[in-house]
Amino acid sequence: MANAPTTPGIVPARLDPETLAANFADLEPPFGAHEAVVAADRCYFCHDAPCITACPTEIDIPLFIRQIQTGQPEAAARTILDQNILGGMCARVCPTETLCEEACVREFAEGKPVEIGRLQRYATDTLMARGVHPFTRAAPTGKRIAVVGAGPAGLACAHRLAMRGHDVVLMDARDRIGGLNEYGIAAYKTPDDFAQAEIDWLMKIGGIAARTGVRLGETVTLEALRAEYDAVFLGIGLAGVNALGVEGEARDGVRDAVDFIAELRQSDDLARLPVGRHVVVIGGGMTAVDAAVQSKLLGAETVTMVYRRGRDRMSASGHELDHAATAGVRIITNAQPVAVHGNGAAQEVEFSYTRDGGEGLESTGETFRLRADQVFKAIGQSLDTAPRGVSVAKGKIAVAGAGRTDLPGVWAGGDCTAGGEDLTVTAVAQGRDAAEDIHKTLIG
Ligand SMILES: Cc1cc2nc3c(=O)[nH]c(=O)nc-3n(C[C@H](O)[C@H](O)[C@H](O)COP(=O)(O)OP(=O)(O)OC[C@H]3O[C@@H](n4cnc5c(N)ncnc54)[C@H](O)[C@@H]3O)c2cc1C
Ligand code: SF4
Repeated sequence: MANAPTTPGIVPARLDPETLAANFADLEPPFGAHEAVVAADRCYFCHDAPCITACPTEIDIPLFIRQIQTGQPEAAARTILDQNILGGMCARVCPTETLCEEACVREFAEGKPVEIGRLQRYATDTLMARGVHPFTRAAPTGKRIAVVGAGPAGLACAHRLAMRGHDVVLMDARDRIGGLNEYGIAAYKTPDDFAQAEIDWLMKIGGIAARTGVRLGETVTLEALRAEYDAVFLGIGLAGVNALGVEGEARDGVRDAVDFIAELRQSDDLARLPVGRHVVVIGGGMTAVDAAVQSKLLGAETVTMVYRRGRDRMSASGHELDHAATAGVRIITNAQPVAVHGNGAAQEVEFSYTRDGGEGLESTGETFRLRADQVFKAIGQSLDTAPRGVSVAKGKIAVAGAGRTDLPGVWAGGDCTAGGEDLTVTAVAQGRDAAEDIHKTLIG
């Protein structure tokens, strides 16, 4: 092994390859057939099931669980995929503890919900393992639709449009399609290149032509797409990253957490990925948790996540924060960065404690420093630039109804829109609903 957790600086190979492989293995092992039936047996198959209402894609959860219980996992998968074509990914990444499983009556009664996420994974994995694509296309409509952005919103929209018989051109600025499924989600939630496998499976519907390296605003304009296609869907996510705005932010070793995570997801040899000895992550959301946990799994000696408000205001769920703490991440709340100190490269981050004052967050005046040779900024993403002509509300594309922008013929969904919740499942729901609205508008 070339290095150790205590090697100074930002270096690769802090852990041996076997430890790295074990650290980045599946976070939760999948159910076997017997375990799945036992887990399904716990469901009460509630009438007016609260778990359905809590699911942004409104999957008929009791129905798919009943199908698993009666030995029909492929029928269960069909029930899931009817509503959520990325049901396999959502089974891995949804914060179920704040969605369906939080609403489950068994959680309410016993503090232990039916394991809906793991059951969903069992069903969708069973179907995908057979290489079966359960949907077919309707008769061709002769309509062509441009879907810009191939993340969960764009993929869900493209698939539903293709099913309805339209021809879809799916464009993305990056080299690979998938959006944050491919470049963002923590590696241990989606090992074995599942994001790509799911896309290959989804594309079996036919009628979707994928074009990578196409950037709206540079390679193509919205005006040109509106002229060429019958409708346009924008699912461009949030490509901009917020800055800290503190002294020393430009020092070596300070970078955006999303870039580090993307590099990690695209790495085919984690032993070659450099990480700091002392890592500080600034932020309180899922991106901050993922950067912190994965730094620790790569072998950083100390990793500290610092958030400016209280734990209750963090956007990462309690489950995610507990996972970070279990992985060895230290979490400090009510502190905000003041400066990054160092000599060329970062060596320390200075923070000031905060409290809620009459006019918002204020510094208490007391400061402290943390050693840091690597600093990740994870204080939120923003819309890079809104395509010309569409209105923006609160920094995101303004939409009404099922994703209609105020430009005729242009829809939008997912993180880039004002209604987005920055969750994979919400982006899928919005892409799907926009596709149905586009279909109704074009075909009547
Ligand atoms: C680090 C991280 C971890 C996360 N973990 C989770 C999780 O565990 N669970 C969960 O539910 N959610 C998670 N999320 C949130 C989730 O990934 C997003 O809510 C979801 O991906 C949004 O989907 P989207 O399709 O709207 O956008 P994206 O997934 O961001 O996709 C947008 C696509 O548009 C492309 N694009 C952008 N601009 C242009 C342009 N001008 N021209 C052409 N293409 C363009 C991008 O390249 C990208 O492929 C995480 C987010 C991050 C950042
Ligand atoms: S709320 Fe829980 S018990 Fe009731 S149907 Fe949903 S998963 Fe089953």
